[in-house]
Amino acid sequence: MSELAHRRILLKLSGEALMGDEDYGIDPKVLTRIAREVIEAREAGAEIALVIGGGNIFRGAGLAASGMDRVTGDHMGMLATVINALAMQDALEKLGAKCRVMSAIKINDVCEDYIRRRAVRHLEKGRITIFAAGTGNPFFTTDSGAALRAIEIGADLLLKATKVDGVYDKDPNKHADAIKLENLTYDEVIARDLQVMDTAAFALCRDAGLPLRIFDMAQPGVLLRILRGEPLGTLVHG
Ligand code: UDP
Repeated sequence: MSELAHRRILLKLSGEALMGDEDYGIDPKVLTRIAREVIEAREAGAEIALVIGGGNIFRGAGLAASGMDRVTGDHMGMLATVINALAMQDALEKLGAKCRVMSAIKINDVCEDYIRRRAVRHLEKGRITIFAAGTGNPFFTTDSGAALRAIEIGADLLLKATKVDGVYDKDPNKHADAIKLENLTYDEVIARDLQVMDTAAFALCRDAGLPLRIFDMAQPGVLLRILRGEPLGTLVHG
């Protein structure tokens, strides 16, 4: 434990991170690979909470664009995050880890309700704890759910896994001369209009002074390296 720079972290994965090369749903190989990384970090001594999005199955905004009621679409999106959380729980348990899923919407035949004190207890006992159903409210995203839960449980770092290895001054997929920004304050992110998270999520992190690291989960061992204090990706701080 002593060699770790972070004691309790919350890792946010997008639903798309579970798809691998598929167009939809979950690739079991990818799920297992991520589960291994998470367990490796847990075994090094960190307390790990996870939030997984639902974009690999449904997003409320997308459903609304094709004519569905937005609130219903968001309920479907939140249920999609529960599906992903159950899949990750299964992958973690198959590899021998202790895990709990807690949902922001009551669905307690399949998982626990989110209760903050109980969540903290799970973490203290070394259980990898997955917070499902985002904030439990429509018109929010799982980025906001991740920021909210990270603050509630007293995480010392919010990690956001993306397909790019940090924040750039312009889109690195479109501009060969894009420069990676390794260290940013919350104010710089706002002044430069950089897109690191949605606005509500970012405001929560800034107001709580919660440091946020954006990194690429595709590199093997990256999670443990970050927990040991390596400055991978981009850090956003106060
Ligand atoms: N969602 C919601 N409230 C929340 C979190 C999520 O209504 O607090 C719904 C929303 O429809 C969202 C979907 O769940 O589009 C899936 O979450 P998100 O888009 O954040 O997933 P990701 O992009 O991270 O895969």
